[in-house]
Amino acid sequence: MIRMTDATVVYDNGIRAVNKASLRIDEGEFVFLVGASGSGKTTLIKLLTAEVRPSEGKVLVNNYNIGDIKKRKIPYLRRTLGVVFQDFRLIGNKTVYDNVAFAMRTIGASNKAIKQRVPYVLELVGLTEKAYEKPINLSGGEQQRVAIARALVNNPRLIIADEPTGNLDPARSLELMTLFEKINELGTTVLIVTHEKGLVDEFEKRVVVIDKGEVISDQTGGYYNYEKL
Ligand code: ADP
Ligand code: MG
Repeated sequence: MIRMTDATVVYDNGIRAVNKASLRIDEGEFVFLVGASGSGKTTLIKLLTAEVRPSEGKVLVNNYNIGDIKKRKIPYLRRTLGVVFQDFRLIGNKTVYDNVAFAMRTIGASNKAIKQRVPYVLELVGLTEKAYEKPINLSGGEQQRVAIARALVNNPRLIIADEPTGNLDPARSLELMTLFEKINELGTTVLIVTHEKGLVDEFEKRVVVIDKGEVISDQTGGYYNYEKL
């Protein structure tokens, strides 16, 4: 769950990347966050993962208060989150299976748990056949699905993806969103940053629009007022 109240982020150079943004996302929701390049989407996501702190206002993520969370508690916050990056960030010399298993090892999961869970998430993202391939032998869409499997493997309450379709063609992008929809139906809250109007309009979901760091629209059904942005 996310409770953001009048959150503001001012970077050291004086840029106000997020400006009095308020946003409430409940367990089980599926939300698109859209906005032009430079509108503050990534900064808003970084607030949720505590990569940046609010200069003003309040941000609660899965009951952690980002404004005053202690550094040593941040890994615990992050365990409640699955984050998918545009550039995948896979480990090149590990197989698909090991990339996903590694995320479980880092939190001290048992071998038994790993053996049960990794095949399940690989099946979920449709990569069972590619389990023993290295990332370099996969297509962009497949690599992105590895990144999603890795984000999901520790069963986070919230999955956050920052422009996950940025490197994919339209057909693969649509497949990927359908996968996020399936993940959401299985109970995980989903927040996806994208600027692809056509893609967002394929899904009748909640769409939050950010412009110059401000939340300017929040409604269900489509990409509001895109042409203006
Ligand atoms: P988006 O993801 O919507 O493109 P960002 O959150 O990356 O937007 O950027 C919002 C604004 O903050 C932009 O003006 C950008 O140049 C600026 N910005 C982003 N990151 C930093 C940073 N680390 N230091 C200073 N300014 C930044
Ligand atoms: Mg961005």
